[in-house]
Amino acid sequence: TAALAEVDPEIAAAIADELGRQRGTLEMIASENFVPRAVLEAQGSVLTNKYAEGYPGRRYYGGCEFVDVAENLAIERAKELFGADHANVQPHAGAQANVAVMTAFLKPGDKLMGLSLAHGGHLTHGMKLNHSGKFYEVVAYEVDPETGVIDMEKVRELALAEKPDMIVAGWSAYPRQLDFEKFREIADEVGAILWVDMAHFAGLVAAGLHPNPVPHADVVTTTVHKTLAGPRSGMILTKEEHKKKINSAVFPGQQGGPLMHAIAAKAVAFKIAGCEDFKEKQQRTVAGAQTLAQRLTAEDVTGHGISVLTGGTDVHLVLVDLVNSELDGKQAEDLLHEVGITVNRNAVPHDPRPPMVTSGLRIGTPALASRGFGPAEFEEVADIIAETLKLGAAGQAEDTAALQPLKDRVAKLAADFPLYDGLEDW
Ligand code: PLP
Repeated sequence: TAALAEVDPEIAAAIADELGRQRGTLEMIASENFVPRAVLEAQGSVLTNKYAEGYPGRRYYGGCEFVDVAENLAIERAKELFGADHANVQPHAGAQANVAVMTAFLKPGDKLMGLSLAHGGHLTHGMKLNHSGKFYEVVAYEVDPETGVIDMEKVRELALAEKPDMIVAGWSAYPRQLDFEKFREIADEVGAILWVDMAHFAGLVAAGLHPNPVPHADVVTTTVHKTLAGPRSGMILTKEEHKKKINSAVFPGQQGGPLMHAIAAKAVAFKIAGCEDFKEKQQRTVAGAQTLAQRLTAEDVTGHGISVLTGGTDVHLVLVDLVNSELDGKQAEDLLHEVGITVNRNAVPHDPRPPMVTSGLRIGTPALASRGFGPAEFEEVADIIAETLKLGAAGQAEDTAALQPLKDRVAKLAADFPLYDGLEDW
């Protein structure tokens, strides 16, 4: 019964410090979010103690009557939210969900076609050091060099030439919506399975702000912790005909006991995602990203060699293009960190700088929208980012007096929007 601070003061301090960091800075990593208190409670519950190999009603352990309730709720809510025939809510993370899908539908040596990592794809879509790149033959489609957008005619030509067994549509760094109907047509034309990985934009789909891939794809994977604002974990949605194959690929195919505390937290997140408040938050998320894109494409910013890929965004993130700037991705990430804004550097297509440096930034709005930011705050944060990057590009970032007002403006925004207020007493 001893408290964490007594048993392990070092870990307690690391957690307290991290809470302080989350509260005191502006989190703009596009794949991150702040989960609601109810999700935290479910995730930190006694369900972590329970072994439950198998599926609800068909477990390999006794005492599963209550975790069955939790998993059934997660499954039913996920099906309802996305209009799916079947949901497997057991994948420990997005990468595990993706491995399960590949092993369910492909044999080693089969051909997988996905968006190139260098053009915004995810490493589980065929990167050579990942399971996907090691076990399957990979062909990658790219974005158009002029527009930065995926050209579906080129995707079709590549698919016709390569005849992949499976096509994956989905991304980690791409600011536009995908044309799932066209992907379906192409998959049908070449006889491929269509897999959509909606990890980044699942929250937008749940809110009706992004086309839903579920009616078009054979299988859809997602993480639950990005725009969906649930616990760190994954999920698979399928048509009824693939249910057995997918369930068996997850367990016993690659996982043992499911994380029942995480599954309960997923159920809570799906319930919240079905509410009007969640939809309103996703609208602020997308509008905030569009404000950021507008402010970063203003003349005085672009005059410093700074622009955004595709000229704007339809989703929750903006990709800043620094190819023509003195400032590289690493310097820009460090500089924003110094003023209190957390983002990640990101390679842009045909990036002339090395992968550890890059010529881009990925900036997302989901976490700040969860914190309550609306149009006025997103305008302010967009201006802070633009001014910081301009200072960096002009070589004036060493001037601490110039950075101080920017740091003060970040601190004010953070103070005005308290995060997990009173958490210490929950
Ligand atoms: N798929 C996509 C498109 C992603 O962006 C990510 C994470 O960044 C994943 C899968 C992997 O998720 P996880 O980090 O939970 O394994």
